[in-house]
Amino acid sequence: MYSLLLALTLLTPIQGEPIAQEKLDDPAPLVPLWEQSRGVPPIRWAGDRLVEAQQEARDRRVAILLWILRDGEPASEAWASNRILDQNYLKVLEEESVPAIVWLPALDGTRHQEERIRDSEEAKPRWRCPVLRNCRCEEHTGSEMLLQGVELPELLPAALFFSGDGELLGQLDKEIPFQDTESLLEALIEKRAPSRATRLNLEFFEIHLERASKHYENGEYARGSAELVAAKRYFEKLGPRMKTRWDETCRPYLGYGTRLLNRAKQIGRVDRSRRINLLRIIAKELAGLPPGQTAALLLKRDLTPRKQ
Ligand SMILES: [Zn+2]
Repeated sequence: MYSLLLALTLLTPIQGEPIAQEKLDDPAPLVPLWEQSRGVPPIRWAGDRLVEAQQEARDRRVAILLWILRDGEPASEAWASNRILDQNYLKVLEEESVPAIVWLPALDGTRHQEERIRDSEEAKPRWRCPVLRNCRCEEHTGSEMLLQGVELPELLPAALFFSGDGELLGQLDKEIPFQDTESLLEALIEKRAPSRATRLNLEFFEIHLERASKHYENGEYARGSAELVAAKRYFEKLGPRMKTRWDETCRPYLGYGTRLLNRAKQIGRVDRSRRINLLRIIAKELAGLPPGQTAALLLKRDLTPRKQ
């Protein structure tokens, strides 16, 4: 590949760099000035990653919220130019749901095309969806399979709730897509489970588990235990798979704790002060985990003066 490029460069020295030539032939237009300075807020749509979206919905105990819009409909265009640029609106969508979107062809069958733009004078050209702006069109075409066998709402924009098992749960109140962020939040709070995790919660939980595994490998048990205790705080917000993942990450710590507790028991028969030292270590290294709690109890018992 490199040698081919090199050969081509050597053969065409007069034409200059290929990129410059490409720019000359096809200068992608710059995005509007306001977009150059403000940018477009990011959001992660489900796209065609529906298995992952359903898993995320189950893990976070929220629904998939599928937005339905259509080309050639002024209300859909208005939604895109207001809501897609509203960071708070997108934040609510990501906190309270797993957001997905479809953008249907116009009633005459025509469809918008991707556009090639540059974000600044210096930026390389990129392709994007002209209505969603921050992603490619595949992010909305990929979710169309969610609509299989589903009756389309008459009034668009509309949004449908799907469970993590792919079941259609219902429709977001018809007027909400025409209203502001506050109305959206109220409507979603009304529908949500008593406790649910945001995307950020789930990310933090994963980070705690990752660190706990790493600390175990490095023999930093106290730091790892602290990560596991921190992760446990998210339990009631998360689905059952995440609890299993926590158990799996915790298992080596439990094994380590059991081995130390057994040793303390054996040592205790011959050397009380070494037993107490070892129990102190277990209580400190595995604080908040079952072996640490057991060690703390044993220590308390050992140090309490016995009544004669
Ligand atoms: Zn598009």
